[in-house]
This record gives sequence, structure tokens and C-alpha cells, in this order.
Amino acid sequence: MQVVETLKALREARGALVGRVGLVPTMGALHGGHLALVEAARSDNDAVIATIFVNPAQFGAHEDLSKYPRTLARDLELLESQGADLVFTPANEVVYPAGYQTYVTVENLSEGLEGARRQGHFRGVATVVAKLFNMTQPDAAYFGQKDAQQVIVIRRMAADLNFPLTIEVIPTVREADGLAMSSRNVYLSVEERNAASVLYRALQAAGALYAQGERQPQALRAAMQTVLEAEPLARVHYVSAADAQTLHEAETPTEKPLLLSMAVQIGMTTLIDNLLLPLELNTRAGLTQALGYVERAE
Ligand code: AMP
Repeated sequence: MQVVETLKALREARGALVGRVGLVPTMGALHGGHLALVEAARSDNDAVIATIFVNPAQFGAHEDLSKYPRTLARDLELLESQGADLVFTPANEVVYPAGYQTYVTVENLSEGLEGARRQGHFRGVATVVAKLFNMTQPDAAYFGQKDAQQVIVIRRMAADLNFPLTIEVIPTVREADGLAMSSRNVYLSVEERNAASVLYRALQAAGALYAQGERQPQALRAAMQTVLEAEPLARVHYVSAADAQTLHEAETPTEKPLLLSMAVQIGMTTLIDNLLLPLELNTRAGLTQALGYVERAE
């Protein structure tokens, strides 16, 4: 496995890779969720590139950029053991040199949910992902369901800017109690960590109602809210039941795929989670098909 920090070294190493290339972009502090993306990329492609870059452009002024966990040595060991071929770990100046001023904005899809809670977040995400696509020239790129709106935004961006690659979506990897793995889980105290399974329990409650035939979006949102409110450490930022293609909040019963999602603060840490309905869609194939489906021009 080769580790490179500069664009020149990346270009040379990328040029030497043969066949189909899969890209896994990350911010490091790797866990089982990231490794599932690498595993999928490994099995689909001839070569795998992973990137580790804590992207300042996607953090708000009052967010956790400076304390975001950084565990590079361990990350490289994990990537090597998962069979990555090339890892790109650029410094901020490599991605955003002095004088940098070009940003990618995906309009409507970036505005609600996480975009409303985190102003400018998806502008930062779309910009860095477009740049990473240009820098690494992958045939396929792998993203996690955990960040479902990110998937939807990136799919739109990739289609709109004619990136010649496919976006693959990997189901959320969870801890034993259902908590979605996240680099931010290390911020939780023991008490908060126990409370944090409430996000998954709330999604399960709404998923069970849907499976019993409930189709009123408001009833699904209320079911999530009720479970969350029973947890004293939880503060709800939003719960949503939205069209999984457009992210429009659903108001009337629909048979189209619905994305249940939420952001919930536990102590000082805000966690997000989601579930796609019908429940059978929470597989790689279902997610890749239904989450932010974009018709590409021929
Ligand atoms: P991050 O390092 O947090 O930017 O995440 C890098 C990629 O890993 C993104 O595509 C995430 O959606 C994905 N990811 C993060 N956590 C999980 C998880 N628990 N299961 C699946 N994918 C995940």
C-alpha cells in the first residue's frame, strides 16, 4: 500500500494503477463503517484508493474541526489490512492553496435537514468530493448510508458535472445496540453512550409502524419523536420523513421510498441517523437504487 501526500505523487501512483479503480473518501478516525466501504470497493474493483482529509470547508465556525479525532497511524494499518492500494493524505494547503476561491453548490438538496442545521456544510462536501474525483479519477466511489443527504447531494453533483463514475451506497454499520458507528461517538461519556441508542430505537419504532401499514408521514415522525422524548439526555434538532429522491418533507401518504432521518444532540455531541422505507431498501442494492436517484442524460 502506497501513502502519498502531494498531487504529483498521487498522479504518478494513480497512473500506475491498472484496471477499475474504486475510491473511498474519508476524514479518518476509521471504524467499521469506513471499512465496509473499503471492503465493497475492494471486491468490485481492481484497485482501491482511500483518502483521509479532514475538510475544513465542511465545518461551521462553531463546529468541532480542531478537536475532530485524528488517528492516522492506526487508520493506515486498518486500510492496509483491508487491502487498499493507495492512500492520499493531503495537507490543507494541497487541497486549498493560497488564493483558492472555487466552490460547488448543489442547490435545493443541500438546503434542508443537515444543510439547515449546518450552514455551508454541503457546499464544503460537494467541493471537496468534486476535487477528490478530479484528483483520483475513480470508476466508482463509495459512500455510507449513515450520511444519506450527503449521498443524495453527491449523486446530483456527480451527474450535473458529468463525472464519469458510479456512486455506490453501503448500508450503515452499527454497534451491537444499534448505534450507528461514527468517528464522533468517541466524544460521548459512558452515560451519553448508553443514551445514544435512542436514535436507532426511534427509527425502529417508525419502521415497525410502517411495516404494519401506517403511511401517514406525520404519524411516522410522531413515533420517532415520542421515543426520543422519553430519553432525558436527548435534545431533538429535527425528525424527518422525506421523499428519498427529492428530500421534500412528506405530508401525504405515499408508496414512494421515504427517508426517515434525525439529528439528536446527546450532551455536547450531535448524532445523525436514518432509515429508508420500505425496510427492504436498506441494502446496498436498495440504497444505491433509491437514495437520491438521478436520471443521467445519455
Ligand atoms: P467520514 O469519515 O465521517 O466523512 O465518513 C466517510 C464515509 O464513511 C462517508 O461516506 C460516510 O457516510 C461513511 N460512513 C461513516 N459512518 C458509517 C457507518 N456507520 N456505516 C457506513 N458508512 C459510514
